[in-house]
Amino acid sequence: MSAENGRGIVGAVRWAWRAASEFLYPPRCVCCRGEAPVGADAGRYAMLADPDSVSRGCLCARCLSDLETSKNELCSICGRPYCECECAPEALVSIGIDACGCCFSYDKGRRGCASSRLIYSIKSTENRDSISFAASLLAERIRRGGDSAISNAVLTFAPRRSRSVREHGGDHMMMTAKQLSRLLGCEMICAFKNTARDAQKTKSAAERAESASESVRLRRGISEKISQRRVILIDDIITTGSTLSACASLLYDAGADSVSVYALAKTKRSKKE
Ligand SMILES: [Zn+2]
Ligand SMILES: [Zn+2]
Repeated sequence: MSAENGRGIVGAVRWAWRAASEFLYPPRCVCCRGEAPVGADAGRYAMLADPDSVSRGCLCARCLSDLETSKNELCSICGRPYCECECAPEALVSIGIDACGCCFSYDKGRRGCASSRLIYSIKSTENRDSISFAASLLAERIRRGGDSAISNAVLTFAPRRSRSVREHGGDHMMMTAKQLSRLLGCEMICAFKNTARDAQKTKSAAERAESASESVRLRRGISEKISQRRVILIDDIITTGSTLSACASLLYDAGADSVSVYALAKTKRSKKE
């Protein structure tokens, strides 16, 4: 059996399994996992598998509208909608990364905002459909960047803390990166390990930067894989950018030609920050 046929059979089995699951379990919105999606029909998963368009048929009416709002919200710094904003936080600018793209704004003052519901949903790594959805959104965003050499790039992700990987049964960004590499047709590598004990969200900006540079390490043998190459680095939310900055510095030190940064969402900033 050729590899091509093998993949075809695996794909058909996966599709049949998803189609059967449709009948066994009522579909849930991939973002809030509560309501039924607006486009709940048997063709939903066929649409999800289409690499060129992100199906909105897997969201409930409220999440669909909330995500549109966070996507089109205007960045107070560049004035462009968040889905086009390329403003990079100081931690990235300071190491020479002036632009980073995202799909939505993330409003830390509004706990129930749609981008936070989506990120919460992908953190439970058993929510495979949410992870597929997140990967499709990132693929759409990265392609929109107009980059012609994506298939030659190597894709990697900001690592979760080992403790968090154990708690959640996996690293949701690794799973997102795996799906994304298939959609973009590029290689994916697990470049880092993260030995931090405490979550970044409880810390100040200065503490985040210090902890990120101390706890993120490059895995063995990664230098050979990234030397002279373009690296795409992804994460779920960019707040201060300290973890991504620590990751990108390690990639540059190991000989990467360039590093492009993308995230699902960026925390809203004011001009003063
Ligand atoms: Zn929803
Ligand atoms: Zn901006």
